[in-house]
Order: sequence, then structure tokens, then C-alpha cells
Amino acid sequence: MTTTTRRGLLQAAAALAAGGAAAGARSADAPPRTPFAVAPTYIPIAGTDQLFPVRRIYCIGRNYAAHSREMGSDPTREPPFFFQKPTDAIQIVPAGETVDHPYPTLTKNYHYELELVAALSKGGRNVTPEQALDLVYAYTVGLDMTRRDLQRAMGDEKKPWEIGKSFDHAAPLGYLQPAAKVGHLKEGAIVLKVNGQVKQSANLNQMIWSVAEQVSKLSEAFELMPGDIIYSGTPENVGPVVRGDVMDGHIDGLPDIRVRVV
Ligand code: MN
Repeated sequence: MTTTTRRGLLQAAAALAAGGAAAGARSADAPPRTPFAVAPTYIPIAGTDQLFPVRRIYCIGRNYAAHSREMGSDPTREPPFFFQKPTDAIQIVPAGETVDHPYPTLTKNYHYELELVAALSKGGRNVTPEQALDLVYAYTVGLDMTRRDLQRAMGDEKKPWEIGKSFDHAAPLGYLQPAAKVGHLKEGAIVLKVNGQVKQSANLNQMIWSVAEQVSKLSEAFELMPGDIIYSGTPENVGPVVRGDVMDGHIDGLPDIRVRVV
């Protein structure tokens, strides 16, 4: 494609997005004309009738020292790192309900990772840790579900882990709890039970990078935008679930989530 053609296409796309003349005769607030619909992803905001529109899901890896060691790395030498899940992997888990979570295809070793999730209502680049919490609008409890066998196999082959982390329903989470109500969560128990038995039990203050530091680090690599959410890493003792297992996720200060693997 020539530069000129490409520029023309980009301008046409921009005009469409802006509801301009290229879009044809329709009112400025009409949705763009598309041959089919793609569902946007929203998370309900607790205590309101509003929905939080999700732009990107960032996840941090190896952000608790003991989990980093159980995954085979040395937290004193290898800093945490980021990856993403697709936005439409979100599965909403209302408080007080048990949500059916489909066991995914291709895996024989399906793992839970319980995590604090932070949701941003403001963006920025090169945000300092001191400014970072101004971007954080809300928190919730989330599961970074992982096809561990596929993740490991790809890692062993030095290929991207995408297939282990980024699949349908891979991101169950609760309604967002605004920080204006629950505060900024920096310490408190994070506990995952499977069928009533405690499997993961740690404290948010054991994170290597705090939520503020994660926002700051991420903003060096990407321009953060409103609608971005961050899975802040899991503590040690990740492990498998099978069909029929019920997972209870708890973080002090937030409503629990409950998911049944089906
Ligand atoms: Mn994780």
C-alpha cells in the first residue's frame, strides 16, 4: 500500500470515527455503520447504575517473592514484568452469586491465581509512584486463570505464553468497588479457598511492586488510558482446579467472589 493510499484510508477512518462526511448521511451521534456488532466489555460499578468500560487488561507477573520462587525464578535478580489478556476474557462475578466458569480447552493443568485488580479512570505517561493512585478509580477481586501446562510448554520453547494466559473467560472478577468508598488497598489478607480449603493465603503488603509502583512502571512502557485495568499479581501456592471445584476469592475490604468450574 502506498503512503498516500494509507493516509487516505486513515483519514477516511478518522472521519468515520468522528461521524464526518465520509460516513454518509446520518446524525453525528448515530453509531458507526458496521457489517456486524462486537460487544464492548463493561464491569458493573458497585453501588451505582454505571458500567466501567474496559480498554485493556494488564497483568503483572511474579510480583510476590514466594510465588516468583515457586515459578522457578529469583525475585532478587528478576524484576516483575507485564503481559496482557484480551479484554473480552472478562467474566463478571456478582457478589453473593456462584458463577459457572467453563473449564477451558487444550489443558490438563488449569490453575487459579487470586489477585487484586485495580481499575483506572485516568491515563498518563511516565506517571510517578506519588501521582499513580490518582489514576486508580476502583478495585476488585480477580482470578488470573492460567492453562499452566501450555504456559510452561511455550516458555520452555521460548515462545509467547499467550495460549496459557489469554483465552475465553480467563479473567473472572467482581464488581468494581470505587476507591472513594473502599480506599486504596495496600495491605490486608488475600485468601483463595477451593472447596472450603485454604490454598493461597498472603498479604497485599507482600507485593514486590505496589499498585502505585505498577502504574508508574506500566506508564513508562505504555500510555495508560481510562478504562485500563491491572491484575496486580498472585501470591504463592497457585494450583490446579478440576470440573466441580468451587473457588472462593477473598481480599480484605472487598466483597468475595465465588466461581464453580464446570
Ligand atoms: Mn497472575
